[in-house]
Amino acid sequence: MERSLQPTWAAKRAALTTFMTIFDKAKKTLQQLSVTDAHGVESLFTELRAAAERELAESISRGAPNPAQREKLAKALRDRWLARKGGLVAQVDENWLKTAGKDLKPAVGKQFNELRRSTVGLEFEKLIEAVPVKEAPVVQMGLPLGFEPAHATPRDLTLPGYRRPLGSIHPVIRMQREIEDIFLRLGFRIESGPEIESTYYNFDALNIPESHPSRDDWDTLYIDSKTVLRTHTSPVQIRSMEKYGAPLYILIPGKCYRHDNPDSTHSPMFHQIEGLAVDEDITFADLKGTLDFFAKMLFGEKVRTRFQPSFFPFTEPSGEVAVSCFVCDGRGCRVCKESGWIELMGCGMVHPQVLRNGGIDPDKYSGWAFGLGVDRFAMVKYDINDIQLFFQGDVRFLEQF
Ligand SMILES: [Zn+2]
Repeated sequence: MERSLQPTWAAKRAALTTFMTIFDKAKKTLQQLSVTDAHGVESLFTELRAAAERELAESISRGAPNPAQREKLAKALRDRWLARKGGLVAQVDENWLKTAGKDLKPAVGKQFNELRRSTVGLEFEKLIEAVPVKEAPVVQMGLPLGFEPAHATPRDLTLPGYRRPLGSIHPVIRMQREIEDIFLRLGFRIESGPEIESTYYNFDALNIPESHPSRDDWDTLYIDSKTVLRTHTSPVQIRSMEKYGAPLYILIPGKCYRHDNPDSTHSPMFHQIEGLAVDEDITFADLKGTLDFFAKMLFGEKVRTRFQPSFFPFTEPSGEVAVSCFVCDGRGCRVCKESGWIELMGCGMVHPQVLRNGGIDPDKYSGWAFGLGVDRFAMVKYDINDIQLFFQGDVRFLEQF
């Protein structure tokens, strides 16, 4: 009968002790705690050492607001653990070590010595040395606090939180979306493609022969002899023709790369938008009408467009489009460099061979295309004189948009 009751009591007691803190346990004897082997002794001491280390680490990381407070804190911590009478180490000596039975004494003695070693840091002088004096943080009302890390200062929950400044849309992307919106309303859809591109899609399929100067190492960033960082968004024209066939109305925004040294008007990475329309009976008149509409939507009803002949390998005929200066209305000013006109983009009728390369029959379909630099558009629109400002990530510049 008695034997069967024993484990039940032990289990109940064990269950009770798990709800006790290690500081409650220091007030009991090992017998009262049902600790009967070296393993039980070790886990008790481990728990107590961990508590001492935690309290020390917290005091060091929290610090004290001034030397007097530090002294007070050091005294309290030292007394709690090391006081001859009633300190935690003394309690353990009294309750665990002195009352331990013969069989457990060596194990308790060994652990007790270790406890004394690991609580040396709680001596008064050691604490004074280790605990830093920290000024409470000064909160400057009305100033943005920026990204200050929430480290190591005394926590006062009534202080205002660290404010993270709100971002905004980058001026280049803002410009890009404005252009996209106009063409989306005309029924175009947005297409994209890889920035690491094969020489086939970047050059060959666009009628740019091996001998063309733009294929030179000095103009193009090569990854290997057959792979480049795309120099324009035009490869997506071919990819889209292959993918969808005709009719096709697409707008292609994206990053492009050229072997340019950065200066106020050049960047080795820049943004382009191309448009492509392929359908039956598409003529140059459609191109002119669409781009004139686009310019008026973007710069205002008053602007006029001007088309001049030009040359590109992938369009025939090709043209350059300029818009009358929206600042001076064509009279001449700083923005248009006194010419009254602002160059907008290149354009033209898609070369029959390019349509063929995209798998479209040039006898049945025709098309037009244009390409423009988004960064330059944003520079004109926001009156920015240095393209580098877009890519330096300077918040003082970017927060103006
Ligand atoms: Zn002007």
